[in-house]
Amino acid sequence: MFRGLLIDKQDGPQTAAVQDLSEASLPEGDVTVRVAWSTLNYKDALAITGRSPVVRRFPMVPGIDFAGVVERSADPAWQPGDAVLLNGWGVGETRWGGLAERARVPGRWLIPLPAAFDARQAMGIGTAGYTAALCVLALERHGLAPGQGPVLVTGAAGGVGSVAVALLARRGHEVVALTGRPQEEDFLRGLGASQVIARAELDRPGRPLEKERWAGAVDVVGGQVLASVCAAMRYGGTVAACGLAGGMSWPATVAPFILRGVTLAGIDSVMAPIEARQQAWARLSSDLDPALLERLLREIALDEAVALAPELLDGRVRGRLVVRV
Ligand code: NDP
Repeated sequence: MFRGLLIDKQDGPQTAAVQDLSEASLPEGDVTVRVAWSTLNYKDALAITGRSPVVRRFPMVPGIDFAGVVERSADPAWQPGDAVLLNGWGVGETRWGGLAERARVPGRWLIPLPAAFDARQAMGIGTAGYTAALCVLALERHGLAPGQGPVLVTGAAGGVGSVAVALLARRGHEVVALTGRPQEEDFLRGLGASQVIARAELDRPGRPLEKERWAGAVDVVGGQVLASVCAAMRYGGTVAACGLAGGMSWPATVAPFILRGVTLAGIDSVMAPIEARQQAWARLSSDLDPALLERLLREIALDEAVALAPELLDGRVRGRLVVRV
């Protein structure tokens, strides 16, 4: 038996509670991992609260990330004792995930724990931080370089946003942080933002093309904010769009794309190929200062995840929640 957070839904409303689970209930897979740390991401909070249909089958152990040690392996790539981590692949959505003491997955989904981080730090980064790195790499692939002008990060005080601010600042970009929480200004400046602006400034309808402001942007918000960001991109700039914290639909025009050559780069972390994952973790290893990472982290116990999920969805959590499993 092992302890895990289980979401269930039978006839009534969905339930979520930590309980004892049997190893026999783990899904098929050639590697069994003793999970040490996991995280609470936006998607995990959606799963736990049931606010969006993230969970595809019940009962489900949520947790789209985990880090731990291989306990048993039928995959020659992994030996018992290897330190590993996993992000995404539908874990915590279509098959049991990381918010439990054991997880079983296909070995090809795992990557070695990067030498730069211990398991707690890696989960402090988690899918949110790894997605931030995917966004930064996408901007660079489309030609963004330091010195070209301000780079905007939306939802900046959240998980993806805070890591994106730190990574961009570290490369020498002038980072502008958009937040709905002015009280987080010192925190955001501490991560490297040179300017902090209020969410309300972009969360309102504008013209199809606004004054050119941003050389690049990382957007976790979607909705009206993404439309406003695109309208104010500089000629040839790129927006990496990865989130929907402010809405799924998007009241935009094609004007920025056809008149300013703006690129909208879509970012998906869940099914990203292994090479992209390795690149992202290499960037995090080289550019994310562990001391800065500590400022982003709040450590919680597995039993606290259910209570904190609604707070995360309501935008009241700063940085990253790392779960001691
Ligand atoms: P967090 O909850 O940690 O951060 C989201 C931030 O968005 C909040 O902190 C807040 O920032 C801002 N925000 C929240 N609600 C609203 C709103 N109604 N309008 C405008 N801004 C809002 O979540 P994560 O950083 O973990 O995830 C952010 C988004 O990215 C989510 O939509 C998530 O699903 C998505 N995501 C996508 C991935 C992918 O593979 N494409 C992977 C990981 C995440 P502030 O207070 O600073 O304004």
